[in-house]
Amino acid sequence: MALIVQKFGGTSVGNPERIKNVAKRVAGYRAKGDKVVVVVSAMSGVTDNLIKMAKEIMPLPNEREMDVLLATGEQTTIALTAIALHALGVPAVSLTGAQAGIVTDGVHTKAKIQNITPRKIHELLDAGQVVIVAGFQGQTIEGQVTTLGRGGSDLTAIALAAALKADLCQIYTDVDGVYTADPRIVPTARKLDEISYDEMLELASLGAKVMQSRSVEFAKKFGVIFEVRSSLNDNPGTIVKEETKSMEGIVLRGVSLDKNQAKITLVAVPDKPGVAARIFKAIGDANVNVDMIVQNISHGSGTPATDISFTVDKPDLLKAQKVIEALRQEVGFGKVISSENIGKLSIVGVGMKSHTGVAGKMFENLAREGVNIDMISTSEIKISVVVDLAKGEQAMKAVHAAFLG
Ligand code: ASP
Ligand code: MG
Repeated sequence: MALIVQKFGGTSVGNPERIKNVAKRVAGYRAKGDKVVVVVSAMSGVTDNLIKMAKEIMPLPNEREMDVLLATGEQTTIALTAIALHALGVPAVSLTGAQAGIVTDGVHTKAKIQNITPRKIHELLDAGQVVIVAGFQGQTIEGQVTTLGRGGSDLTAIALAAALKADLCQIYTDVDGVYTADPRIVPTARKLDEISYDEMLELASLGAKVMQSRSVEFAKKFGVIFEVRSSLNDNPGTIVKEETKSMEGIVLRGVSLDKNQAKITLVAVPDKPGVAARIFKAIGDANVNVDMIVQNISHGSGTPATDISFTVDKPDLLKAQKVIEALRQEVGFGKVISSENIGKLSIVGVGMKSHTGVAGKMFENLAREGVNIDMISTSEIKISVVVDLAKGEQAMKAVHAAFLG
């Protein structure tokens, strides 16, 4: 008898028919004698729609209220899933994040899980119930409702699998697993049987929207091996686990395109110690994640000045712009140029550590397509470039063809 955590994403619970299918699958595992904890997302589109409504009222709504609002999405799904199990004669109970014992810090809309006390879940499992937990949400010790950042239901599932010491953690989604690239953009993309945490992490954080990256980090930290697979069929998915020797033989695992970033350029920033620190400290304090940063060589006469460009998540652009404007007096820079029309194209593979010429080959293929490179960043297992959004998909196909066929 195994303890299984199964997470179903928004499309997998997108309508009552799909929820009934989820219930059938869960019932199947339970019939084999397994204890099942189900984590569900909001029905697809629901979270986006709630955000849209709030922003129609006010562009920057209060974040505490956003959490109260967004938590309703998952709460709808847990109840419907429990009802669908009842309809099959399976005992099931839904729990909100708070009821499931998920305690977070108080950073609204991006809360971090601090601890999980799964006492209630264990009790219910022992009583023969299927337990359905609302993903993406928790509660502070003061009892405030919090959410874990977009895509946070994955984190709920992984964190619960760790806290419950689950034998198996399955992340059900609308694709068959992790692919070498998004098959909707690159038709020759292939499903991977396995991938390392680090590769998955890079792909996730790079916008291959299979999973939220924080949840993969969490899985790595706690050694939670999980499977990403489809809720629409019975095909085996992709196993995500610690890197093995055999993984290094392959140069590239995948190519991804992140269309969810925006770029901000500060022109003529005084080139002296402490300025970059001041800017990025302020942005960090506003809880805005900065990804790439590029500083150009100082040019012009007079006080040395430099241009600093950086990227943030698109939804944080407005917030980042406000933080920057608030620093104008103190720091003294020129124009601020923002662009949402960028795409970040990345290639990822642990094999890069032991193969040479990878960057050259990538850039050569971009040049051949007439794609200009705007920013570059690298890590041990990744090379990313910022390109014009309009050329992003073309660039992705070319790079995939060059490395992965
Ligand atoms: N419903 C939330 C979102 O859309 C959380 C999730 O789906 O994982 O971001
Ligand atoms: Mg989702």
